[in-house]
Amino acid sequence: MKLQEFHAKTLLARAGLPVPPYAVASTPAEAREQAAIYFDDGAAAVVIKAQVLVGGRGKAGGVKLARSADEAEAHAEAILGMRIKGITVRRVLVAPGADIVRELYLAAVLDRTAQRIMLMGSAEGGVEIETLAEEDPDAIVKIHAHPQLGLQPFQAREMAFRLGLGEHLRTAVDVCTGLVKVALDEDADLVEVNPLAVVREDGPDGPVEKLQLLDAKITLDDSALGRHPGHEDLRDLDEEDPADIEAREAGLSFIRLDGTIGCMVNGAGLAMTTMDLVKRAGGEPANFLDIGGGARSDKVAHAMRLILGDQHVKAILVNIFGGIARGDEVARGLVEARAKQTRSVPMVVRIVGTNADIAARILAESGADIVTAESLDEAVETAVRLAGNAA
Ligand code: GDP
Ligand code: MN
Repeated sequence: MKLQEFHAKTLLARAGLPVPPYAVASTPAEAREQAAIYFDDGAAAVVIKAQVLVGGRGKAGGVKLARSADEAEAHAEAILGMRIKGITVRRVLVAPGADIVRELYLAAVLDRTAQRIMLMGSAEGGVEIETLAEEDPDAIVKIHAHPQLGLQPFQAREMAFRLGLGEHLRTAVDVCTGLVKVALDEDADLVEVNPLAVVREDGPDGPVEKLQLLDAKITLDDSALGRHPGHEDLRDLDEEDPADIEAREAGLSFIRLDGTIGCMVNGAGLAMTTMDLVKRAGGEPANFLDIGGGARSDKVAHAMRLILGDQHVKAILVNIFGGIARGDEVARGLVEARAKQTRSVPMVVRIVGTNADIAARILAESGADIVTAESLDEAVETAVRLAGNAA
């Protein structure tokens, strides 16, 4: 689950890291009001930033500096409603504009191979890390944190010095340690700050330079959300695929793919095997869908809706191995769902295991337009053929 910049900044500020003040606005008038507050406080500029879950907002025109409340309102007017990489901007972040001296890159990422959080830094910030990794991989400093102890102070100092942040050592160490701590505490796969910036501010004795987290991106581990009840509030439903939302609410594992054969299977292993067999038979699966053990008829109906919601689906293949899931229950669900479906596509069903005989009778007696198959190979071949005919 990806967090919007303002939510990511909330978590980082809560961890005591130097995040500049910010506010969120969903109308130009709100943006103006917030900007006016920062200008009254002495800000020379205010930055207006699109809140969408994609990178490169700056290049897309979604980050703009304003010198007055009028200009802030005009920028917000232009950015709100703008589409960035296919996503409509519904909110903007308003913050005092920073006077940037230097931009760096710093991130705590989960290194799956090392099974540790890795702190990644580069003195060349602002650019996308993927570009940098390709063009100049040596410019990226990588340090692995200890799984229990986190990033050790000497490691944080090493990163700070290698990024040329000796003048800001104390803050740099706090930021390095803090990013790793947030990744571990919040179960995040990624905590990225790009840019981490050296900014110039007016002090009582002239200008002073300090480190600030100007942008923030956090991706939470979906499998760990259960350990953080509060994180559910950070979810942005506007930017999620409605099919993903429905699948989550129905308790189904559903992943959309590019093919034409909708697969409804119980068990993740069987689902993968089924997809492999579809490919071997010359077809392309339209999805991965595990309806889970003990799937009841309402779950089957949900699964059908999800599959048919994809207009590319030309045939549905149901492969159920009745163990905890009872074949008759699934068959009843299929008949019910078939009667209510909004779009007609051929359906091939193979049910074996617990109550398979009752399932076969239910399907036969229902009069529903369902093709039954004895073996899995037969089911797959039939589904691929029917999808081909429909195309
Ligand atoms: P991204 O493009 O989606 O990563 O959005 P960022 O928040 O990283 O902003 C992109 C770029 O805009 C940064 O690299 C900065 O160069 C610039 N920028 C962002 N905030 C400020 C600010 O407060 N002041 C100034 N001068 N530039 C900013
Ligand atoms: Mn950025």
